Amino acid sequence: MNQVLNTINGQQVEPTNGQWLQNIEPATGSEYGRIAGSGADDVNLAVEAAEGAFSAWSSMSGSDRGDCIHRLADAVEANLDDLARLETIDNGKPISLSRSLDIPRAVTNLRFFAEASLADRTEEYETGDVALNTVLRQPVGVVGLISPWNLPLYLLTWKIAPALAAGNTVVAKPSELTPVTAARLGELSIEAGFPAGVLNIVHGTGPSAGEAIVSHPRIKAISFTGGTSTGAHIAETAAPHFKKLSLELGGKNPNILFEDADLESAMATSLRSSFANQGQICLCGSRILVHRSIQERVIESLVEGARNLKIGDPLDESTQQGALISSSHRDKVASCVDSAREEGGEVLCGGRCPPSLPDRCENGYFYEPTVITGLDMEAKTNMEEIFGPVVTISPFDEEEEAIDMANATRYGLSASLWTRDEARARRVSERIEAGTVWVNCWLLRDLRVPFGGVKHSGVGREGGEEAMRFFTEPKTICQARSAT
Ligand code: NAD
Repeated sequence: MNQVLNTINGQQVEPTNGQWLQNIEPATGSEYGRIAGSGADDVNLAVEAAEGAFSAWSSMSGSDRGDCIHRLADAVEANLDDLARLETIDNGKPISLSRSLDIPRAVTNLRFFAEASLADRTEEYETGDVALNTVLRQPVGVVGLISPWNLPLYLLTWKIAPALAAGNTVVAKPSELTPVTAARLGELSIEAGFPAGVLNIVHGTGPSAGEAIVSHPRIKAISFTGGTSTGAHIAETAAPHFKKLSLELGGKNPNILFEDADLESAMATSLRSSFANQGQICLCGSRILVHRSIQERVIESLVEGARNLKIGDPLDESTQQGALISSSHRDKVASCVDSAREEGGEVLCGGRCPPSLPDRCENGYFYEPTVITGLDMEAKTNMEEIFGPVVTISPFDEEEEAIDMANATRYGLSASLWTRDEARARRVSERIEAGTVWVNCWLLRDLRVPFGGVKHSGVGREGGEEAMRFFTEPKTICQARSAT
């Protein structure tokens, strides 16, 4: 049986409480391994190890830290096929996606921040001829990193890399639903010669291992990606400790198609932004807002595209839609579609589990790509995050109305808009309440730019210098000029 062990102080160790969680393969519904069900004692051991490693790691030159992180990137790259397979088995996503997106992006995350560790971020300000202010950027200390299941290694390395590059030591907890590539990363870090205690990875549930990290008095900062209600709970727990907090939360992103859009390109991308990773990407455009004059063409194209997506065994190279993460999540998605029907929505395609699947996948957690029309913006289906292969299409007549509809939810993570009119693109982008607006594209990411959400989609930004700022504390040294 496969075992997911903790990485603590440079060693692969079992949980001290002897508790284990089942690891289920979403594509088959079968148990295929067990996961350390760690608790507060394991988190304590990890914190002690991270504290022990902090002094040496934080005083290393940026270039030496960068070399270490590059060695980890080399190891991930050398094991790309193996890691992609592990990710697909653990998560249910198509192997083509793990191989082209998830694991390569983990390599890029590590390399990007390995380079970022080279820069000297010290700033100096002269106060006339009275004083010199020097602003140091010092690592925070031991930091806690908590990540979700939808892009497991991709999002975990997106946190680990800047935290380490800035000189912190880490206690990380991946999702208990997809821990396998994180455990492998722990092994690779040992093989890559990471100093013991610099990168600790503790597995377990949110209420157990996660809560122990968030409430640990000696963990100085928490970087969390996950659901909005979990984020609210984490903020409450962390507040009395005055921890630095970065929260990347849910979304209900609008995808706006104006009448002058390049429809071929818009529809090819909209099919992806609706259903990539079975719609389980926080940036998916789950609300398609379309100018009434092109509504029929958009519906026809999206429904045809959705029907043609090949659902099947995620390990099959030709599969385009894999399994959802768990039976409870598949049931949640199905109940959201049922409630859309009750609200008066018309389900144009999908809205059910696929009637036939390869034998191996008979008991897997699959759901057909689903397109719904006929709901107004206040409908629950248009307000709440579903996080599955479900999109709604709603018409608008005026630009102003499209903006109001786009901003009508409590979320504000990202938006896409499609138009050939550059002035309109700029005008509308400025008024959309979101951390990122894509114009005539989707999911194009430059790792230097800030990434995050507004409203209930989060607090703070990741990416580039924003991440390096989060993982450092500024210290001002104000030195008086000596009078001569
Ligand atoms: P989740 O909130 O259930 O879990 C995320 C992580 O938090 C997991 O590791 C979990 O074990 C841990 N956790 C749960 N309860 C905890 C607690 N009390 N204390 C500490 N940790 C706890 O989210 P999920 O279901 O894994 O992920 C899906 C959600 O993540 C969606 O809402 C999605 O939009 C969001 N997401 C956001 C982004 C972004 O960048 N904004 C990216 C990916 C996913």
